[in-house]
Amino acid sequence: MPIRVLSEKVASQIAAGEVVERPASVVKELVENSIDAGARNIQVETRDGGKRFIRVTDDGGGVPAGEVELAFHRHSTSKLTSADDLARITTLGFRGEALASIAAVSHMTFATRASGEPLGTLVRLEGGRVVTRQESGRPSGTAVTIENLFFNVPARLKFLRTERTERRHIDQWLTRYAMAYPELRFTLSHDGRNVFQSPGLGKLRDVLVAVFGLDIGAAFLEISDLQSPNFDIQVTGFVSPPSLHRANRTYITTFVNGRWVQDSSLTYAIIQAYHTLLPGGRYPLAVVMVALPPEEVDVNVHPAKAEVRFRDGDVVFRAVQKAVRSTLLERAPVPTFTPPSTAWPGLKSRGREERRERLASLAPRPAAEQLRFDGEPAKATKLEGGPIPPLRVVGQVGTTYIVAEGPEGMYLIDQHAAHERILFERLLAERQRAAVASQALLEPQPVELSPEAASLLEEHLEVLSSLGFQVEPFGGTTMLVRALPALVSETEPGQVLEDVAAALLAGDAPLEAEVEETVARQVCKRAAVKAGQVLERAEMEELIRMLERCASPRTCPHGRPTMIHLSVAQLAREFGR
Ligand code: ADP
Ligand code: MG
Repeated sequence: MPIRVLSEKVASQIAAGEVVERPASVVKELVENSIDAGARNIQVETRDGGKRFIRVTDDGGGVPAGEVELAFHRHSTSKLTSADDLARITTLGFRGEALASIAAVSHMTFATRASGEPLGTLVRLEGGRVVTRQESGRPSGTAVTIENLFFNVPARLKFLRTERTERRHIDQWLTRYAMAYPELRFTLSHDGRNVFQSPGLGKLRDVLVAVFGLDIGAAFLEISDLQSPNFDIQVTGFVSPPSLHRANRTYITTFVNGRWVQDSSLTYAIIQAYHTLLPGGRYPLAVVMVALPPEEVDVNVHPAKAEVRFRDGDVVFRAVQKAVRSTLLERAPVPTFTPPSTAWPGLKSRGREERRERLASLAPRPAAEQLRFDGEPAKATKLEGGPIPPLRVVGQVGTTYIVAEGPEGMYLIDQHAAHERILFERLLAERQRAAVASQALLEPQPVELSPEAASLLEEHLEVLSSLGFQVEPFGGTTMLVRALPALVSETEPGQVLEDVAAALLAGDAPLEAEVEETVARQVCKRAAVKAGQVLERAEMEELIRMLERCASPRTCPHGRPTMIHLSVAQLAREFGR
């Protein structure tokens, strides 16, 4: 094909692809415009997960009648005039791309009245073309309605996930902005149902309560920034006390100059601040705002503006780490060292015999019942290195690894990973027979969750119930827990549910089967013996026996190895024999 200049229509659809990925990106861009317009109240309504309908209404400055059409032109903005301004961006928008991009791939109705003008304007566009324009008597401010998103981009439409997933992404963006702008009042409704509202009273803690629920909202520690007030970098926000943690980083939210950013170094600075304060593999919850002079940060790195570049990243890293660390040391009781527990989880007060019995009952059923869940037993087993030979326990190293001897040399077994594997296979086998052991709570317990966690769990109630959870929606973001899988029956229900939700959140809308495995993995991770626990010989022997009977004994459910093998030949070589 000869080289051709793309038509304006095709070019704008391509450009739109960068900014408008899914309904949530529309919400994000429109809300940013409302914030930039000085709105105090911002209302977001969606239908069908935003696929059919999104409306963002604000009471900001509005657009003057004479400028309305300009707003839809690509690279038209009221926020920037020269390239120099780029160095001093104080608004969320500046690229002048969002409205043009969104309009190009939807049916848009833009209704606005500038505060100084008597009459407003209403413009309808289809695929970026203005089809009607009329005067409109309306309150000052702007309402943008998007219908039939991606009606002319079938490829994009096909990639949209379930309504719930799209709603979840919208929830995520809206709660982020609510946290970044506590002085603004945000409301969000899906299909006519109010799901979120921030009070708009200027207090971040109030917003955190709306987002995370009362318990967690109250537990958050406010960051006390000890830097001198003249220092260029200000760090504010809230972080969880070391007693409150999650299985992954999803609950660490960072903002730079009022803009949500995904910055691994900021996230890492926060995690670093918790060094030695959290158990391994656990992460804090945090909402951290960094404010610095606009010329110190380049926001023009990414079309969706989710990434930024700092002029001096190290200084920012240290400022964040220091502020969070000093908050923790100052506000949170320093944990005293507790010697490793010598008992299996939940069995502290019971006798040794009983312990052994319980361990034995955790063993996988005989081989005939060991189903592989991908339905390809032989291949999968081979892939993962095949069965392990009978092993003789020699001892324990560092209260974390079991040393064992086999016909082909020495084996070091990670006790936690191995136990996870054992429990995982057993749980899924029980699941196949619809016989997962479930333990009813003495009293049903209401658990308040974050809106995201609640909607995600609500989406997968059936899977949860098949794995021994009995939970039901209990109004708002509260779930009523009636029973837990027996494996985790002694864990705090809220903690288990938040862990499961966090794991689901980390995997974006997986298939039903993946959901099941994700939930099962999380349950087993909780239930498995931990590193740092002293094991008696009998317990280690039992663990090894059970591992030998697993279908995939060499990896834990997360794919990490359960064991390291040093062959006789390797040993001989190392010793120069
Ligand atoms: P940008 O935000 O990068 O300037 P947009 O395409 O998002 O680009 O918006 C273009 C222009 O339209 C903005 O600069 C602003 O002047 C105007 N505009 C968009 N939304 C609103 C709104 N809700 N209230 C007032 N003005 C708006
Ligand atoms: Mg914008």
